[in-house]
Amino acid sequence: MNSFTIPKTIGLIYCVGRNYADHAKELKNPIPKEPIIFTKSPACIVPFEGKIFLPLNLGRCDYETEIAVQLGTNLYQAAQNQVLQAISYVGIALDLTLRDKQNELKARKHPWDLAKSFVNACPLSRFIKMDDFQELANMTIRLEINGEVRQQGSTKEMLFSIPDLISFISQNIPLRQGDIILTGTPANVGPLNNNDYLVAFLNGQAIAEAEIIRT
Ligand code: ZN
Repeated sequence: MNSFTIPKTIGLIYCVGRNYADHAKELKNPIPKEPIIFTKSPACIVPFEGKIFLPLNLGRCDYETEIAVQLGTNLYQAAQNQVLQAISYVGIALDLTLRDKQNELKARKHPWDLAKSFVNACPLSRFIKMDDFQELANMTIRLEINGEVRQQGSTKEMLFSIPDLISFISQNIPLRQGDIILTGTPANVGPLNNNDYLVAFLNGQAIAEAEIIRT
């Protein structure tokens, strides 16, 4: 895998809810029968480096550490092998979530956008070029906060594999070159506090770090 910075052309961000059984359980949600898809605005992307500002008046803001992949071609109603050909880059994203706001919106059966697309809601690590697609089947992520492991997971634990997820989205929605897919969070999501220092690891290698500023 070769090093790369944040992609130049970014389309829409697609996300999947509850793609790890242990995370579905911790939020007391049932295990889904088909992927739960929602979007985040690309305007929320911020580099996962330096300082990340999250205004205090947003309320509780949870981290969700996720493998992110970017598409190098358009895809519509694609089979798994076409999906593998289309994935060009991989990195780590934080799908930041205003949990109180999300719960309030869910209770009213409203869409979650307000809880998912606020300012700086999507820190992105540098992206790495995918050379060997076999790697996708056995990729690990880890988040440390202030030197303590908070989240870890492997693509082996996903309910829907990355190619299955993207194939599923493409059956329903035409995907475009540059779109980014966030593939779900493992368990132990939790709130971010002022001065938290985050380090994210992909396959055991630190690829992003940042300090959270909540003022
Ligand atoms: Zn998420």
